[in-house]
Amino acid sequence: MAGDLAQRGHKVRVIEALHELGGVLVYGIPEFRLPKQIIREQLDYLRDMGVEFETDVVLGRTVTIDELMGEEGFDAVSIGTGAGSPQFTGIPGEHWNRRVLRE
Ligand SMILES: Cc1cc2nc3c(=O)[nH]c(=O)nc-3n(C[C@H](O)[C@H](O)[C@H](O)COP(=O)(O)OP(=O)(O)OC[C@H]3O[C@@H](n4cnc5c(N)ncnc54)[C@H](O)[C@@H]3O)c2cc1C
Repeated sequence: MAGDLAQRGHKVRVIEALHELGGVLVYGIPEFRLPKQIIREQLDYLRDMGVEFETDVVLGRTVTIDELMGEEGFDAVSIGTGAGSPQFTGIPGEHWNRRVLRE
């Protein structure tokens, strides 16, 4: 998405909570399956297109959407936080799994 937007002339900033960019593709998938060099090259490609990257910045804590859309002057914020921090619904039985149901 960052590349598509940059290609269309938009100013794009990617904010990453961790110290390293790439998400699960970098820290979750083993090297033999997805070499980190491929991710690094993709990130360099995006940088060359003008995409800005900020690491160690937690959206909602270090910076808020209001700040980005206000003083920072962005027109839109797209949230792509992955599936690392699920939010539970509080519905009874949501933590059951098939094994529990069979017992
Ligand atoms: C075991 C496993 C193997 C896989 N194998 C493959 C494969 O071989 N090939 C393939 O294409 N896909 C594979 N996938 C799927 C792939 O990893 C995911 O589809 C992809 O990583 C999803 O990207 P994403 O950017 O949506 O989320 P993520 O990769 O989870 O990235 C989300 C990012 O958001 C950051 N973040 C979260 N909250 C905040 C916040 N508040 N502020 C700032 N940043 C925040 C996180 O730190 C993270 O870096 C695999 C997944 C798993 C679990």
